Amino acid sequence: MALYLYRCDEHGISERSLPMGMAERQVACPSCGSPAARVFTAPRLSLGDPARRALIDRTERTRDEPAVVSSPGPRPARRAAPVATNPALRRLPRP
Ligand SMILES: [Zn+2]
Repeated sequence: MALYLYRCDEHGISERSLPMGMAERQVACPSCGSPAARVFTAPRLSLGDPARRALIDRTERTRDEPAVVSSPGPRPARRAAPVATNPALRRLPRP
């Protein structure tokens, strides 16, 4: 689905979600029913799930506007050093 914009002279911009290529040059304004002409903009394709779209928007925003925090985040838990499972490696000297 793609999002198409239409402008009514009285009520401004309204949006229609239609299959790609199915946009008409004119639709009826949802508020008054008078003809609203299509407005051409950069493509704004629907990415489906709003939660996913919000995550993508937030991720892109942090590129230029990192979130302000009052303290550093929690320290990551320290992991134990990996233990060799091969018995031959256990006999090697340890640092
Ligand atoms: Zn209108």
